[in-house]
Amino acid sequence: MEKICPVCNEINDIEYICDNCGGKLVDKGRIQEYIDDYSADMPIDDYKDYCLHIFVCNKCGNKKKEYIHKVII
Ligand SMILES: [Zn+2]
Ligand SMILES: [Zn+2]
Repeated sequence: MEKICPVCNEINDIEYICDNCGGKLVDKGRIQEYIDDYSADMPIDDYKDYCLHIFVCNKCGNKKKEYIHKVII
């Protein structure tokens, strides 16, 4: 058995609504890939049960971090 992130693997289309304007938050990928100026000596550990994604509102640009619960396949 393996735990995978449903968003990374496009199993589920998870949609979040912006707190700010009610717009749709769009997945921008895992936080590790999104933050490229992250210091090399501060690696972000992959969470065992969660995948941390960045979502950005397509209307107002509001950014939100969401922990995606990994599913067992
Ligand atoms: Zn993921
Ligand atoms: Zn918004």
